Amino acid sequence: MGIDKNYRILAVDDAKDTLMLLEFDLAEEGYDVYTADSGEQALSMIESQDIDLILLDMYMPGITGLELLTQLKQNPDYKNIPIIMLSASDDENQVVSALELGADDYVTKPYIAKVLLARMKTSLRLLEKTLELERLAKTDFLTKLSNKGGFEELAHKAVSQANRENQSLIMAMLDIDLFKHVNDTYGHEAGDVVLIEFAKRMRECFRDYDIVGRVGGEEFAICMPNISLDNAYNACERFRSLIEEQPISITQSCGKPHDLSITVSIGLIQGTSGQLEYEELLKQADVNLYEAKNSGRNTIKTSNGDQDISEIQEEQIVNTSDESQFPGIDMEIGVGNVLGDESLFKDIVHMFYEDHSKDGEKIKQAIEDSDQGACKHLVHTLKGVSCSVGAMNLFEHVKLLDVAINEHKTDEYLTLFSPVEHELALVMQGIEKALADRLS
Ligand code: GH3
Ligand code: MG
Ligand code: MG
Repeated sequence: MGIDKNYRILAVDDAKDTLMLLEFDLAEEGYDVYTADSGEQALSMIESQDIDLILLDMYMPGITGLELLTQLKQNPDYKNIPIIMLSASDDENQVVSALELGADDYVTKPYIAKVLLARMKTSLRLLEKTLELERLAKTDFLTKLSNKGGFEELAHKAVSQANRENQSLIMAMLDIDLFKHVNDTYGHEAGDVVLIEFAKRMRECFRDYDIVGRVGGEEFAICMPNISLDNAYNACERFRSLIEEQPISITQSCGKPHDLSITVSIGLIQGTSGQLEYEELLKQADVNLYEAKNSGRNTIKTSNGDQDISEIQEEQIVNTSDESQFPGIDMEIGVGNVLGDESLFKDIVHMFYEDHSKDGEKIKQAIEDSDQGACKHLVHTLKGVSCSVGAMNLFEHVKLLDVAINEHKTDEYLTLFSPVEHELALVMQGIEKALADRLS
């Protein structure tokens, strides 16, 4: 026995005696042998069995060997199956044609068993190498998850299948929060350790048939077939809290071990059954991820209806001292956005005051001037920064105004601006007072 795996070999020949001989020689060597005495029968065999290699007679009535070879090499599902042509010794020109059409090798008939078996082994070894290379090309070297291309291929298939079965499907995008800070503080190697552990937990946390991939530096994606939005949300929430609650052991640049706490933001989308498109799903999951980042990170957003996440956010514990309170600003979120660095946060609030304390007047002017461009720019920027500093009430009001501006609902601008103006004044006065207190 010269092989270490039960390869399935299909022998195709219209001569029954050749088939019998092949069957005997190959079975003797340990192969699983399938036989077909016509091209037609071979095709249906290939469709129903997982064939690893084909021995194909050149001349047969009906579909000839060359015709079958051409068909198989043009079919993406079968093009990798090695094909060894069996030819009469005076077939030189035909052999050349066969090799040009993609045949992997040829053996003349009557064949010498030893030679045939040796050639089969070489072809199968090459096949293994090709498959391994293809696998590597689709795998992320660091985390061993599917890479972007690999994920895309698998998710595409899942989307097509869901469409065929009229099922909906969930796509999720995950992004580690403030990961740049991890690299900057603990070094790139520690960052890599975090990515590897993050990926490992993803594999453990989600179901075996969920498709999990690393689609960017610290961006991951999951495609979940056959699951309700609730269950998908719960799975993501389990993962989010696992990441938050179980620090990752890293080695600092100085060599000392350190338990590093990280968090993850997740955008989730459920596609409508029967009309799913991979690119669109990914795009929408990304929009929701952006929302999750914008609303303070360490959270899950889904445009199919947000679940109550206030409780989760209350669990985020950040040390804040009383004297540093700013009215209208959620310190936990603001300080959390800069990984608990309170003094950095104060500097940021200071800058926020300097850059945006006049925004109320500016936005009002832009609305009065019907300057759509200025409205859009001012409000969009304010939305982002108010979220970053943790001015969550302000953020909520600005968000509504931002939506109206994006939808050109000009008659709503002033009404929606009013609470923004009020809240902005409150926040800015608070900062002004805190700054004055600090100086006095
Ligand atoms: P946010 O919460 O907004 O996502 O902030 P962030 O810092 O996570 O996002 P940003 O996109 O600014 O930074 C991502 C960082 O991920 C920057 C890049 O150096 C790092 N990164 C990307 N790929 C790798 C990698 O393979 N290894 C390591 N160690 N870092 C990586
Ligand atoms: Mg023949
Ligand atoms: Mg990130």
